[in-house]
Amino acid sequence: MTMTSGGFGFVKSLQKSFHRKPLNLPQRAYKVASIDLISLLEQDIRGIILDLDNTIVSEDDRYLAPGAETWIENAKRQGIQFFILSNGKRRHRVVYWSERLDIPAISPARKPFPKSFRKAMTRMGLKPRQVLVIGDSRHTDVLGAWLVGCASIQVATLPHPFRWWERLLGKWVQIPYVDRQDLWDFIE
Ligand SMILES: [Mg+2]
Repeated sequence: MTMTSGGFGFVKSLQKSFHRKPLNLPQRAYKVASIDLISLLEQDIRGIILDLDNTIVSEDDRYLAPGAETWIENAKRQGIQFFILSNGKRRHRVVYWSERLDIPAISPARKPFPKSFRKAMTRMGLKPRQVLVIGDSRHTDVLGAWLVGCASIQVATLPHPFRWWERLLGKWVQIPYVDRQDLWDFIE
């Protein structure tokens, strides 16, 4: 078996994930908009890799994450860079949101594989230590962040038609969005 330098890089970043001192950030937040911006700045977070489906907009385009767009604007004003990584295969949705939020995007990003996370960090000119991943799914967003040595915050998944494996794995992969009063309809 041959090992490429990329392979060693991967092992190195895994080792870093094991030994890295954890940041003083919560691992979970109910909503994107409830993540405390000040604490991100205090921990020297300079970039955010953002999931799209069921984090910002439900994958059936019914609901918007309440307050998320304003939160993103405020974060940008504080100098935080953004990058969207979406596993979604319907490219037009990603293009729409990339333009609407004025954030570059990669889709399909094939999370949790490290490639697109690394690309996003290179494009932002940031190290893993400076980047936070925000998403609703543990097996893609949280796992992917961990593999490349970034911090992550998992948010509750916006209501959407669940796939069979989401039903099966349930709370292991996602935090259910229970506060149905606190949802914004998506009107394009
Ligand atoms: Mg998602």
